[in-house]
Amino acid sequence: MSNPTDVILPGATLGVLGGGQLGRMFAHAAQAMGYFTAVLDKDATSPAGLVSHHHIRTDYEDAQGLSELAQLCAAVTTEFENVPAAALNTLAQSLPVSPAGASVAIAQDRAAEKAHFVRCGVPVAPHAVIETPAQLAAVAADLLPGILKTARMGYDGKGQVRVKTLEELAAAWVELGHVACVLEKMLPLAHECSVIVARGRDGSIVHLPVQRNLHRDGILAVTEVYEGNLPSTQVAQALAAAKSVAEGLNYVGVLCVEFFVLQDGSLVVNEIAPRPHNSGHYSQNGCDVSQFELQVRCMTGLPLVQPRLHSASTMLNLLGDLWFKDSDTAQTPAWDQILALPGCHLHLYGKVDAKRARKMGHLNITAATPEQARATALQAAEILGIAPF
Ligand code: ADP
Ligand code: MG
Repeated sequence: MSNPTDVILPGATLGVLGGGQLGRMFAHAAQAMGYFTAVLDKDATSPAGLVSHHHIRTDYEDAQGLSELAQLCAAVTTEFENVPAAALNTLAQSLPVSPAGASVAIAQDRAAEKAHFVRCGVPVAPHAVIETPAQLAAVAADLLPGILKTARMGYDGKGQVRVKTLEELAAAWVELGHVACVLEKMLPLAHECSVIVARGRDGSIVHLPVQRNLHRDGILAVTEVYEGNLPSTQVAQALAAAKSVAEGLNYVGVLCVEFFVLQDGSLVVNEIAPRPHNSGHYSQNGCDVSQFELQVRCMTGLPLVQPRLHSASTMLNLLGDLWFKDSDTAQTPAWDQILALPGCHLHLYGKVDAKRARKMGHLNITAATPEQARATALQAAEILGIAPF
């Protein structure tokens, strides 16, 4: 095993567990810097597998697949939040793995995640862990109305039920199959924001600018980033909280911390993702270092330089819905019209099937001013049939 303090220079092979769009964009960034890439994902047409030098098609826990990955690679990272932490720990016996299995395990479990936030002293939504009927019976009524969320495997609003009464809460727990859950009080949101930090093996830390996010139906729809997108006190609080969450985990890698901004202006940490995040995609075109390049730098021990936002940026998510004219007529979105707009950067993930609510790609719009970025994004949204924002 290489010395964990050794820098892994271009020419080496970097591995990623998971073959989704985040892995694909990681592979693109690594390859641009002269690395070879290897993806472990059992899907023959996974977005990252399709563009990587090596594609190992096994389950995450397949001993042979993991050993093949370890032999090919100088370091490994992950792009899929629910990769079993055990797979990362197995790989860590023979090569540098970032983020560590222990960090990923916390991010995979809402209850552990909330406990970590509390340990770090960052504000969280009032909540209760529900794993037993006794815990259900003991729920305080002031947590209602609330959202019951499965502790594990939730994403894009899946595994969540909104409840107004104790009766609805009990029914929701049945609906979710009595699995371990967290009940969160429904908070009056003004908006949502997120911060992406990158922390190196030496503890050095850099961040992308704070992102202002709009969700629709529990899925990120729009991210806007520019100087002044949020009041400076909220920016300072979000950055400080994100750093303490990363430091508290002794985290190595790219970490996204998502926040709620409440109507009274206060900030609450929502959740973390132990990887690059959808809300950081604008950095590919709006910053001089993207979140995927940061991931490469973290895992190889290369220096972390503070990214600079050089353009006001708006990111629009492209969901599979755009590939349907109506319930049963397929269409190809008018990319030619989109690409006629100045500052539009199209990113498509090469997914074979378009499905409703499935993330198929995103559009980064960069401009000299926030007003211009927004105006162009609204034009693009109109062409594509995305509701204005
Ligand atoms: P996921 O893992 O699916 O992203 P989140 O916990 O981030 O789950 O919830 C998805 C979205 O639902 C959030 O971005 C927010 O818009 C809304 N939401 C979640 N929890 C709350 C809450 N406690 N109060 C108000 N809105 C919430
Ligand atoms: Mg979320």
